[in-house]
Amino acid sequence: MEKMSKGDTLAMRNKYIGKSCQLFFRQDPLKVVRAQGQYMYDEKDKAYLDCINNVAHVGHCHPKVVEAGCKQMKLLYTNNRYLHDNIVICAKRLIETMPKDLNTCFFVNSGSEANDLAIRLAQIHTGNKDIIAFEGAYHGHLTSLIDISHYKFSLPGGTGQKDHVHLASLPDTYRGKYNTLEYKEEDISHLYAQDVKEICQTVKNEKNAGICAFIHESLVSCGGQVILPRNYLKETYQHVRNHGGVCIADEVQVGFGRTGKHWWAFELQNVVPDIVTIGKPMGNGHPVAAVITTKRIAESFEATGVEYFNTYGGNPVSCAIANAVMDVIEDERLMENACIVGEYLKKRCMKLKGKYSVIGDVRGIGLFLGIEIVENKTNRKPNPEAATLIHKWMKEHHILLSVDGLEKNVIKIKPPMVFSEENADEVVSTLDRVLARLEGSDDLSKDNGFADSGCPEMNK
Ligand code: PMP
Repeated sequence: MEKMSKGDTLAMRNKYIGKSCQLFFRQDPLKVVRAQGQYMYDEKDKAYLDCINNVAHVGHCHPKVVEAGCKQMKLLYTNNRYLHDNIVICAKRLIETMPKDLNTCFFVNSGSEANDLAIRLAQIHTGNKDIIAFEGAYHGHLTSLIDISHYKFSLPGGTGQKDHVHLASLPDTYRGKYNTLEYKEEDISHLYAQDVKEICQTVKNEKNAGICAFIHESLVSCGGQVILPRNYLKETYQHVRNHGGVCIADEVQVGFGRTGKHWWAFELQNVVPDIVTIGKPMGNGHPVAAVITTKRIAESFEATGVEYFNTYGGNPVSCAIANAVMDVIEDERLMENACIVGEYLKKRCMKLKGKYSVIGDVRGIGLFLGIEIVENKTNRKPNPEAATLIHKWMKEHHILLSVDGLEKNVIKIKPPMVFSEENADEVVSTLDRVLARLEGSDDLSKDNGFADSGCPEMNK
C-alpha cells in the first residue's frame, strides 16, 4: 500500500508541505496506510488503537458509509441548485433529531465553514457584532474563527484578542476560576453565568451595543474535556438573549450521539440553541457539515436578498454519506454502546485515580472522557510534562491518545463509537503500566516529552 518508504514520505512532506501543518509525534511520526473500525495500521501493518478520532465516528472506513459514497459518486455529483432526494432526506433526518424550533438547514463542507456561516447569520439577525466565546475554545481555522478562538489567538505568535471578542471564563469546576476547592458546588454554575452577564453589561455600557452571539461547545473539548456544570447554559442563554444575542451551540466535536444519552450535547443542559453547527462525525471522514437554525433567523438571512451558494455544500455524494452515517448510528445502536462503554471506561479510570497521585480528575459523558494530570491531588497544579510523557509512552504501546486543555495537562479520550469494553480494558491496563513507570522513573527530569508532543500547539 506504500508508494515510498516512510523516510521518503517524511522528506517529501518536509519539502512540499507548509511547516505550519504539524505532525503528531514529531520525533517519530506515524505513517498510517489503512484503518478499520477503531484501529489504524502503519506501513508495517502494526495496529494502533485509535482513542482520539471522533471523525471516524462509526468506525474507520465503515463499509456501509464507503459503499453509499461510491454508489452515489458513480451516479451523479452536482451542486445543490438542482433538486435531489439525498439533500432533502439528509436535512429532514437531521432536523428530526433537533428540538422543534430548529427546523432549517444549510449544508457546508467543514466545521469551520459551519461556524463562519453561524456567525454571519447571527450578525445579520441581531444587527450586533460582539461575540462571547469560552476561554480556551477552538471553533475553526477561518479568519473569523481564529478571531474568536482563544486557543489560537492567544498563542505568542497569534493575532491577539479583537475588540468585538469577549472571553467567558471556562466553566471548569475542577480548576477554573470557580472550583470545588473554593466554592460550593451548587453555586458554581450561577457564578460562571454571572460572568457572561457582566460581559453583556460591559458591552452595553461601553459600546451602547447589544450582543451578537454566545458561541460554545456543550462539552468543551480543546479547553480540556470540560463538563459544564448543571444549568449553566440555561442561565447563560437567558443573559445573552436579554442583551439581544443569539446562542450558537458548536456540536462539531461532540454531536451525533457521542454523549450516549442524546444526539446533541446541548441537550444535556436542557436548552434550545438558536443555531447549531455540526461537522466532523457527520461524514465519518468525508468533508460534510451543516448549520441548523430557526425559521426566523433563516428569514433574516433571506431578507438580505443575497443568495447563499456553496459549491460543495449539500452535494448528493456528501449527503448520501451523511445519511449512511446516521443509518449506522441507529442500526448498530452506537449511542447505547457509547453509554455502556463510556461508563465502564470512566469507572476503570476512576480506579486508577485512586491508585496514582498524578490523576487529579476523571470526567466524562459517553465516549468523551478527560483525565486531568496534576502534580498532586491536594494542590491540583497542572502537570503538562507528565501528561505529555503518558501520551508518548501510550503510543509506544500502540494506543493513540491526545493531550489538551488550557494548561495542556488533560488526556483526551474520544474514540470511534464502536469502541468496546475490551478496548477500554486495553487502554486502562496499559495506562496502569505507564503510570507505574512514571511514578518510578526519573524520565520527567530527563525528557519532558514536549519535543515529541502529539499536540501541535504545545510547542509554540
Ligand atoms: N469547532 C470545533 C469545536 C472543533 O473542534 C473544530 C475542529 N477541531 C472545528 C469547529 C473546525 O472544524 P473543521 O476542522 O472541520 O473546520
